[in-house]
Formats: sequence, structure tokens, C-alpha cells
Amino acid sequence: MIIVLKQDITNKQKDDIKSLLKENGLIIREIKGKEDTVLGAVGVNRMDPRQIELMDGVASVVPISKPYKLASRELKKEDTIVTVGNVKIGGPRVVMMAGPCAVESEKQIMEIAGAVREAGAVILRGGAFKPRTSPYSFQGLGEEGLRYLRKAGDEFGMPVTTEVVSPSDVEMMASYIDMFQIGARNMQNFELLKEVGKTGMPVLLKRGLSATIEEWLMAAEYLMANGTDQVVLCERGIRTYEKATRNTLDCSAVPVVQKLTHLPVIGDPSHATGMRDLVAPMGLALVAAGASGLIVEVHNHPEKALSDGPQSLLPQQFEKLVRDVQALCPVVGKSLESVPRIMPKNLKEESATEETTASSGELVVAFQGERGAYSELAVRNVFDDDVKVLPCKSFHDAFEAVNKGQARYAVLPVENTLGGTIVDNIDLLQRYPGITIVGEVQVRIVHNLIVNPGVRFEDITKVYTHPQGLAQCKEFLERELPDAQQIPFFDTAGAVAYISKTGDRHAAAIAGAPAAAYHDMEILREGIETNPRNYTRFYVLTREENAEVFRSANKPDRAAVSFTLPDRPGSLYDALEVLKSNNLNMKKLESRPIAGRPWEYSFFAELEMPGIEDFQKAVPSIKQQTADFRILGYYKSAH
Ligand code: PEP
Ligand code: MN
Repeated sequence: MIIVLKQDITNKQKDDIKSLLKENGLIIREIKGKEDTVLGAVGVNRMDPRQIELMDGVASVVPISKPYKLASRELKKEDTIVTVGNVKIGGPRVVMMAGPCAVESEKQIMEIAGAVREAGAVILRGGAFKPRTSPYSFQGLGEEGLRYLRKAGDEFGMPVTTEVVSPSDVEMMASYIDMFQIGARNMQNFELLKEVGKTGMPVLLKRGLSATIEEWLMAAEYLMANGTDQVVLCERGIRTYEKATRNTLDCSAVPVVQKLTHLPVIGDPSHATGMRDLVAPMGLALVAAGASGLIVEVHNHPEKALSDGPQSLLPQQFEKLVRDVQALCPVVGKSLESVPRIMPKNLKEESATEETTASSGELVVAFQGERGAYSELAVRNVFDDDVKVLPCKSFHDAFEAVNKGQARYAVLPVENTLGGTIVDNIDLLQRYPGITIVGEVQVRIVHNLIVNPGVRFEDITKVYTHPQGLAQCKEFLERELPDAQQIPFFDTAGAVAYISKTGDRHAAAIAGAPAAAYHDMEILREGIETNPRNYTRFYVLTREENAEVFRSANKPDRAAVSFTLPDRPGSLYDALEVLKSNNLNMKKLESRPIAGRPWEYSFFAELEMPGIEDFQKAVPSIKQQTADFRILGYYKSAH
């Protein structure tokens, strides 16, 4: 049952409730949600719920209708975020896990780990205990394999996961790995689930070969009832009468499961299909269906693999899949969990003594706007959730914060797919030569109609938001709220803050979901923008002396530059010729007026480059054809 606690409950009252539940043999989990704090009490219940309902501090008692309790969405409405090492799974992220089916040798796992890391994997997989259909097949290297796996994970900065097959191995394995994998064949090995659950560690729970969704969630319940709340579900295909593929991928299980449970669900297109050429399309299908990530088998010599070679991708095929997943992410409102998430750990250590860290030791990242702004979402997509954000009034203030060392990074918008370039930030980059671009992130802009709790659609007579928000939701406003007054505001999240503060019950604001959540407001209509292809890309900026740390973990493939040109026919043509002959692909070119030099222009360009060194080789010849040439930064493209 779910015991909803009153907002003003005292600690003593809470302890009394917990003691009574414990005396009755129930397992208790306290869950602090956005709206309420609840106690989940599960187990063999002999209590009359009314007995608890009458206790001081209890708002209500609600039974959980599903047989799985701790795993159910009824108990916990918000998505669970599972933390594996320094990678987070769940919420608005897509996490790529990859590696061989089995660890075969130290050399093999090292080579594959390096390749998948380079391609964009953030978690390394590799079996050391293999549950094989035939007793004569390769059974895995056992503990020796775990040692190699750990070493490869450490070497390439990835947490590791591997399958556990026996309860007696659990303790030994816990010292080598970051996440247990329960294989399909063991999904209902209840003794194993109990032992693994007791560790409290993250668990990747594969769906059984012929398990229903309910049985699968009951297996998760076993893990949770025994002590872990860090469970990731994995759809890996089920046994059907169809023989064309190894298993039948149950793609619809992903959205179905997401409705039923708060736990993240990922997909395994390798075991689901058993065929290399089906892995990428089915992987994309899983992400499109809402999966929080993929686990993919990759091998550098699949033809020689000791297990599952035919379904293993080559590293370059995996890299292509990662790029395609990355392109798909904005469509499903997510972003690819990428390398910088692993970075803040070493950044933290390195910067712990500087002023760019808050007193608690976390990194400070500046953005422009109010709390809950789209820019804050961009910050969250790049950095760990525990970074401290510094909201700034203007772009200029954010540059100043980085320049003065109040923030180590700033994440600022540079282009919107509907509105075009945000020239202010390009111009500010010119004015702050000590600040450089180190990263890029893309956010899909989803506008929502937000009101004070309880306000009805019929009551709305005014709509506040940034002028661009009004323009981007024009069709909705004309159709649904033709008589409402449209009031331009300086920013979207600020409009939410404003109507929240005034408590106006006739006003609505248009902004992103995080702004509504931050101010405890209600979303009346979601996704009201006319054109859903509305993305903004942001640069991650830092002072030049800090750039290397970010870039070394996130290999740049773009350079942003600015230059002016001699006033003669063909000067731009000559400059472009140099780019062409150096194999630098121009992705964007924009001309900007030069401050203080009327009717003269500088150019801003983004160039795709094979690597920083290749680009630098071309710099002397570019300089010959241009003037005032400046490199504004190097970064890994997010689109
Ligand atoms: C594996 O991940 O290598 C594996 C054996 O998977 P499953 O349990 O899904 O068959
Ligand atoms: Mn396998």
C-alpha cells in the first residue's frame, strides 16, 4: 500500500508509522516525489489500512493494484534514475552500452573497449560467465575475465557490466563490476535475484525468453524487495514461433513497461535479432519507442568471436549506429549520454580548490535565463546533475561569470532552427578572446501552456512568454485562445516565474516543462508549437586554460573561426579554396558587421575537420588569404 504523508508531518509521527509497519513485517520505502512524500509498504499484509489512515501525519492510504509494488508507477510517479559509476540511466538520456558478448582475452577486451568508447559508448559490457545452450561451447573466462573487464573499464573511463549466473559468485563479482547483468535464462532464478538484490548495486535485468511483462516486473520486484532500487530493465526479444530471427523483438514492450514502472528500460537489439544487419535498424526502433538506451554486442573480429559473432557489430558499424541514435534523440525529446558526463569527476578533483567550484566542491555552470529555462536543460544534458547552475540575466553576464572565474563553464545558445543564429553570442566571443568553445549541445524546444495549479483552460485571458514563443505557437493561440491577450515577456521561464508569483488565475505562460516543474505549476497543454522541428544548439564555453580537460574527453570534429577579408574581387573565393584544398568542410558561414568599422564585415564559420592537428596544419595558408583570423574554439558536433 501507499501511505501518503501530510506535508507538515513531524519526524516523530513518521517514525511511529514506520515502527507500526515494521512490526507487521512490511518492507518500507520512503519516496519523496515532487508533490508528496509517500511510504511504500509491501509484504504479506495482515493490517487493516484504516488503522494507518487514522494515524497522525497520514493524508491517505492507497492500495497498489499491481502485483509488483516497489517497481510500480503507482508507488513512484517520477522516473527512477539509475547511477552506474558516473553514468546516469533514465529520464531524458539515451545511454549506449557496448562490448563483446564474452571477454576472450585481455588484448581483445582492451581493443574493443577503446573502439566502443571512441564511438560513443559510455558503459562497457563483456561476459565472463556465459550461460551457453551447449555444455561444449565456450563458458567464459570467469574471474580472469572480470579482471580484464575491470582493467579495460578503468583504462577507458567506462563503468562495466557483466552477467552473473550463480548466487555464490555475487560477492566476488561485486568487487570487480559496476552493474550486475541478470541474463534472460536466469530472469526467474529467484535465489540469484535475492542475492544480487541484497548488494544494493545497479542491476540490468534482461527479460526472460518467454516471460510476460508482468513476470519480468515481478523479477524486478524480487531485486527491489531484497534491497536495491537501482534496476534497469532490458528488452532483448522473446521466443515466438517465428524462426527468421533469433528471437522476436517486442518493441511495444518498451512504452508498455514505461507506463507500468518508474524503472528505466533499455533495449538489446543484438540478442533480439541475432543478425548483424538487423541490429542497427532495430536499435533505432527501440530508441524511437522510448528506450533509455541500448546494449549492443561489438567485436573487432566477429568471424573469430567465441560467442555471438554473427550478431556482433564491427566497431565502425557501432559508431554509425551511435551517430544515428544521436540524430534520433531530439525527436524523442532526449539526448545521448556522452563523454562529458564522465568528465566532471576529474574536473571536480582538478578544480576543487578554485573559485569556479561551489563550496560543496561541485562545478559551477552559467546559463542565461531563469531557473527552468531551456538553457538550463542544455546544461543538464552536458553535465552531471550535481553541477551548480548559475542563472545569469544576460549573455554578457554569463561571459563575465566565466571570465571572472565565478563559473567554470557557460552554456549559451548559438542557433535556433526557426529563428536562426543568435548573433549576440557570436559577437561576445569576439569581445572575450580568453573564452573559447569546447562543446556543443542540442535541445529540442517543446513549448507548453502553463498555469497556476487548478486554473482551467476556459479561465485564461492572457498569455505571457518571449516574443519568439508567441510566434512559434501562433497556430495554437489563434485556434484555441483567439481572444486571449498575448503579452511579450523577456524570457519563457521568467514568464512562468511571473505568473506563479502573481498567482494570476487568468494568466498562462508558454515555456518548457522544466520551468513548470521548477515553479510547481501545471501544464495544461503540451507541445503547442506550430513546428515540432524546433531545436536550439548551444556552445559550451570556458576559459582557454581550462579547455583541454573538456576536449580531451570529447574529441573535437569542428572548429569555429572568424576572419575578415581584403577588399578585392574574389577574396572570399580564395579563402574558400584553401578550405577545400585542406579537406575542411564548411558547415556554416555568416557575415557580421564589424563594430566601429561601418560597412565592413567579418565572417564567422564552422568547419568540419578530421582532427585538430589536421586543421592546425591548414591555418598558415588560411591566414595568408584572410585578415584578423581567430580560432573561436574546437568542439565535438552534437548534430
Ligand atoms: C548476453 O548479454 O550476452 C546474453 C547472454 O544475453 P541474454 O541473457 O539476453 O541472452
Ligand atoms: Mn551474447
